[in-house]
Amino acid sequence: MLIVYNVTNFRNPLRLNVGFLINQSVGYSRDFLFDLPEIHLSPDLDLRTLAGTVRVTRTAQGLLVQTRLRAVTNSECVRCLSEFNLHLEVDFTELYAFSRKSMAESGLILPDDAHIDLSPLVREYMLLEFPIQPICRPDCLGLCPICGENLNITQCSHDDEPTDPRLAMLKSLLDEPE
Ligand SMILES: [Zn+2]
Ligand SMILES: [Zn+2]
Repeated sequence: MLIVYNVTNFRNPLRLNVGFLINQSVGYSRDFLFDLPEIHLSPDLDLRTLAGTVRVTRTAQGLLVQTRLRAVTNSECVRCLSEFNLHLEVDFTELYAFSRKSMAESGLILPDDAHIDLSPLVREYMLLEFPIQPICRPDCLGLCPICGENLNITQCSHDDEPTDPRLAMLKSLLDEPE
């Protein structure tokens, strides 16, 4: 059985009251739908247009939480140094066990007040999605290594020079007089 529930706790929308699920039979599940213009995940992550579903299912061992969320955050392109919208998507499943005995590897236990705060987990999984070298778009032209112009916006007079800063560095080394 599936009931859709719209999240209304706007102070911390990722804190879900799941108490009503404990007394349901095994297999019963409920979907929490998210569609938030913005949310701050303490201490350091600001997300916009957080959307998706969290499905909570009653199992014999505990409550199984399946989270599928996407959002947008600000990032800086390593090539052209401009800010751009980085799209993030997380998809993870965690068990909040009823007791220590049925605990899964992640060691999560359903709290006594039957509220599950997903914000630390969502933050953690979102941060894992961050690329090591974020780029604003695959064909970003970067900055001119000579004058520093953003080559996505303007064309400078150094067109014949290599645009890859590493090549430029190599070239300047090779050009260096003995
Ligand atoms: Zn860029
Ligand atoms: Zn230039």
